[in-house]
Amino acid sequence: MELMDKLEILADAAKYDAACTSSGLDRAGRPGTTGNTTFAGCCHTFSADGRCVSLLKVLMTNVCAYDCAYCVNRRSNDVPRAAFTPRELCELTMGFYRRNYIEGLFLSSAVLLDPDYTTERMVEALRLLREEYRFGGYIHAKAIPGADPQLVERLGLLADRLSVNIELPSETSLSRLAPDKHKAGILRPMGQIAQRTAQSRRELAVYRHAPAFAPAGQSTQMIIGATPETDLHILRLTEGLYRKYSLKRVFFSAYLPVVPDPRLPAVTAKPPLLREHRLYQADWLLRFYQFSAAEILNEEEPNFDPYLDPKCNWALRHPEFFPVEVNTATKAQLLRVPGIGPKSVQRILIARRQQHLGMDELKRIGVVLKRARYFITCNGKAPVRGTRAEVAAALLDPNAFGVGMRQLSLDDFLPTALPGAAPLVHQLADSGMDAREAARIARQEALTCLTKRL
Ligand code: SF4
Repeated sequence: MELMDKLEILADAAKYDAACTSSGLDRAGRPGTTGNTTFAGCCHTFSADGRCVSLLKVLMTNVCAYDCAYCVNRRSNDVPRAAFTPRELCELTMGFYRRNYIEGLFLSSAVLLDPDYTTERMVEALRLLREEYRFGGYIHAKAIPGADPQLVERLGLLADRLSVNIELPSETSLSRLAPDKHKAGILRPMGQIAQRTAQSRRELAVYRHAPAFAPAGQSTQMIIGATPETDLHILRLTEGLYRKYSLKRVFFSAYLPVVPDPRLPAVTAKPPLLREHRLYQADWLLRFYQFSAAEILNEEEPNFDPYLDPKCNWALRHPEFFPVEVNTATKAQLLRVPGIGPKSVQRILIARRQQHLGMDELKRIGVVLKRARYFITCNGKAPVRGTRAEVAAALLDPNAFGVGMRQLSLDDFLPTALPGAAPLVHQLADSGMDAREAARIARQEALTCLTKRL
């Protein structure tokens, strides 16, 4: 098989992996080597379905010994198969890098024979790249669960970032859809990587030439929408992963039906992109806004609201916390205000050392006053007092409406979230009505339901 044919097959097979983004790692080029990494990390672009696609993003092989129900590469699926040799992969990477097509490599793989054999081939490809081709660019490699810890160690010494996909949110779902995988087997390499990354940081602090182990940390990816777990379950799991394994990122991948299987949603089902979007918003609240999973969702409301982002939803449900006086509030209090992000908080804390802040100053700082004004006071004065309906209208998420309605699916939520609005939104979506008019009507209906519920 020609190399370009292999590339076509293996790059296409890799596109479903969403755990690929900027590295946050900075390493200058060195004499005698090719490539460097910048804070932008590996270059990335967005595919037509909205996923982040990094070049060169390929699989070592799509020949798989496993049979995960949701995966296009599963053993029982009849698709063209290919495998790179380590040298072929190096030639491709270097060729693309020299032509300036890519800034790094994202290397994943199906399980060829067994995890050890697959990882050995990946290690050999990365070794050749680093040692023979002197490639100094960014490399993100997947660690295959079940591989020997010594191979994971070697992989981590060659790659900048490692990731182990958690795949599905629970052991039950794993055993139903990916019978060859087990939660313990996935968490083991995660623990090893977390422990080795921390050790490597300590060694580097003492001796700057100590070998770096996965200096850009580790990440993971979870498929959502293929199994019945609630958003609360997923968010708790995410919080636990960040806490226990010091992950840089947890990526959520809306389930994209690619293979018919009675255990999965129908192939015609739309990927739950709005749910994926809400999970990313909540993930930011966990990482940058000092929220815990228990504050964002609870047993009574275990799923996200389609019309409000999680922070606005929390603010509307906690009137006792507001208003917040911007001139005296703590950082933690300011972070809870809708329309104020971590950067604005930093600027507020600095600016108020010099002067009392009013609305004009907050606007200049970058606060989104359209949302924040209902939740703050400036020098004891509330900029505006709104009725419940006005506040809800100001906080409605535009992503759930308008042209976005075509891209972000409400189907996930409608049966449980806002049953009052559901029939109308479905009707409009099916009627072929002008998108803007449909959005306006749907927005009004959602607002009515929301106001009644709050
Ligand atoms: S191990 Fe499972 S998810 Fe990975 S390539 Fe094979 S079938 Fe697909």
